[in-house]
Amino acid sequence: MLQPMEALRRLWIAGLAALVACADGPVRQGGTDVLLVGVDGLDPVVVGELIQEGRLPNFARFANEGVLGALETQRPTFSPVLWTTIATGQGSAEHGVVDFIEASSGMPFTSESRQVPALWNLVSDAGLRVDVAGWWVTWPAEPVNGRLAASYAAQAQAHVLWKSAYVSDYEGQTFPPRLFDELRPLITFASEPGPLLEELWRSFPKPDDQSPLTRRLVTDLAWTLSADRSFEAIGRHFLANDPGELVLVYLSLPDVAGHRFWRYYRPQDFPYPVPERELARFGDYLRLAYEDVDRALGRLMEAAGEDRAVVLVSDHGMTFDPEGRTDPDAITSGHHRSGESGLFGALGAPFTHRPYEPGSRRALGNILGVAPLVLRLLGLERPDHWPAVRHGNGLEEWLDPTWAAAQPARAGPHSDAAWRAQNPRRAPRAPSEEANELFLDALHGLGYLGGEPRTASGDEASDPDAQR
Ligand SMILES: [Zn+2]
Repeated sequence: MLQPMEALRRLWIAGLAALVACADGPVRQGGTDVLLVGVDGLDPVVVGELIQEGRLPNFARFANEGVLGALETQRPTFSPVLWTTIATGQGSAEHGVVDFIEASSGMPFTSESRQVPALWNLVSDAGLRVDVAGWWVTWPAEPVNGRLAASYAAQAQAHVLWKSAYVSDYEGQTFPPRLFDELRPLITFASEPGPLLEELWRSFPKPDDQSPLTRRLVTDLAWTLSADRSFEAIGRHFLANDPGELVLVYLSLPDVAGHRFWRYYRPQDFPYPVPERELARFGDYLRLAYEDVDRALGRLMEAAGEDRAVVLVSDHGMTFDPEGRTDPDAITSGHHRSGESGLFGALGAPFTHRPYEPGSRRALGNILGVAPLVLRLLGLERPDHWPAVRHGNGLEEWLDPTWAAAQPARAGPHSDAAWRAQNPRRAPRAPSEEANELFLDALHGLGYLGGEPRTASGDEASDPDAQR
């Protein structure tokens, strides 16, 4: 049942949408509803290997019934940059999120730093509804025609681990603001380690040692799992409760597992012998992280139902980290410094079936093609200056020819300048004075795994690129 206020709000928004539609003619022409799942750091070769071993049944659905293959990315492969590129259809020079930290303020970029509209803005302005769970650089939550669950990469977090997580009730975490109360029971808080560790040991075997390296690796994994469980639960909640035409969900476990566990996954990439006991302990962790995200994907697809097209995107792949390659104690052993290809998957009536080439790095398109593909699927015009609209979008080659003929691509004028005028750029800010403190408390909470977790005092911490 809708609350009266919620019903009123939707009526008001529906009225707005009707006005927009009357003024400009029908904004949407045909189209289909879309679930866009972003998964950080999925490597197409690892996915191919695990599909062939039968360990990723939900990824295999894309391979067997739809489209699955590599996706060309852009450099630098920083998460806030790439996920903003994916959501805006434009490169970092245009969208303005060029790194983790904004140089002049020394703070993480926020949604107020972005200089062009993202999918959630464009879809809202076209009168369709959108729900967003955990996408990068969405704090503070922008007003949308729908629901948005942002997550602040707190300044302290920026110096510890570059993945979003819920720590506490910061302002601006959701739109509408009262949505936070509805979502709160769905969140696995990083600051409540009991349930989080229970969840962790369901997917990964509990290591039998307490060395500082083990504690650090496990803490980072647990931290990331708290975000993934939260965003998946929020995404499923959106999909089950009057979902928007577009639903976006972001997950990140494969990226963190790739950075932390690559040497145990592929010890042959390293010039030193990885100790047998460490291989026994962590040798399967990266594969288990992929399996975990495969199950999350399956649950999201089940919640989405069969009629919604599913687009799966990873921003980059993974390989050994050339910089720490000779250091057996490096926290980071996997990386994507050379811009290793990510992954693209598509499933549903709008798509053809393309025979899958397991483990191929031959790209099916570029990350710039994702936003225009999503708008076309929704039946909306795409801004005519977007690179993949101007120069052709390889990803649209994977549309079913009959579907594509019935839904021809439509280019429209772009609204970047108008949007920016209404959304003036603001310098990055933190959600609360005590954000850093809360964050570190949460990490210490997880530290009851044993011993002190590594905090912002670590030498590596001042250089985010050393970790990502
Ligand atoms: Zn990464």
